[in-house]
Amino acid sequence: MPNNMDTNLLLGKEMAKDIRASLAEEVQCMTKALGQPLKLATIRIGDFDDARLYANSIDKLLSRFEITHQRIELDANSSTESVINQIDALIDDKSLGGILLLSPLPKHLNYNTLVAHIPAAMDSEGTRYAGMDQAEAYPPTALALFEAIKAAKRPIEGLHAVIVGRSRIVGKPVADLLLKANATVTICHSKTNDLAQHIRMADIVVAAVGRAKIIKGEWIKPGSIIVDAGENVVGGELFGDVEFEIAKTKAGFITPVPGGIGPLTSLMLIKNLLALYKQKS
Ligand code: NDP
Repeated sequence: MPNNMDTNLLLGKEMAKDIRASLAEEVQCMTKALGQPLKLATIRIGDFDDARLYANSIDKLLSRFEITHQRIELDANSSTESVINQIDALIDDKSLGGILLLSPLPKHLNYNTLVAHIPAAMDSEGTRYAGMDQAEAYPPTALALFEAIKAAKRPIEGLHAVIVGRSRIVGKPVADLLLKANATVTICHSKTNDLAQHIRMADIVVAAVGRAKIIKGEWIKPGSIIVDAGENVVGGELFGDVEFEIAKTKAGFITPVPGGIGPLTSLMLIKNLLALYKQKS
């Protein structure tokens, strides 16, 4: 069990260890069933440091799982049409599970236009996540928060989950995942009246706001599960959205910041890729 019983912490490194092991097992089974390694393609256009570093980290991650990484590197002057042709060629490869377009892109290219050409069935980062019942893959941060909730090893069904934040990449997809797990879901946002009252009734709190300590420790229902995506730097120090020091004395389980969901996020690429292959088969 990944939590430390003294402090009720859901620690990212410990959770990641368990999740990595179970994903490795699933990858092995899928590889056997397919009769060949799983495969992911990344497309990098131009020579931006961020895109190169991300491609390298994906390469490292995939090699740990013995998944083939097809690296497509296109010239900075590539036209929209030529990138779309490249995406079309990848779509035709039946052995490929997912396509990931790396950003940033050269200024003349539009990310949304290009991503729209990647079919949802090959969208390994959940970039095209559009809402309930249409999703095959989910944005990684949302999946990581859901995995942290699952790591508390409590039945989610019937629990009241309160999500603070309704963005397309975090709040909404977490709500979708929790609803699918039969939680009763409330979504709060900047126009919510009396946030405290909602949090007081929550068995699960998902913090996805981006405001340091906006969720006060005294609001936390005793024994609840608290997961925090917040990354707020104040005075050079990193804080979550939850007032951690007080919240941890009341919560049953809580992710610290830093050291919470971060290490899970990159692993969610593997989870999505597996989901896409399962959908195909
Ligand atoms: P957004 O800015 O897109 O969304 C923030 C949400 O918080 C909005 O729905 C907004 O409401 C809501 N909100 C803002 N102020 C309040 C308030 N006073 N009370 C209640 N709700 C409020 O952020 P993201 O969803 O992209 O990110 C959320 C957090 O997660 C950030 O801290 C970000 O750094 C972090 N993050 C972490 C990642 C990770 O891997 N750990 C990756 C991505 C994000 P409204 O819709 O009304 O504006």
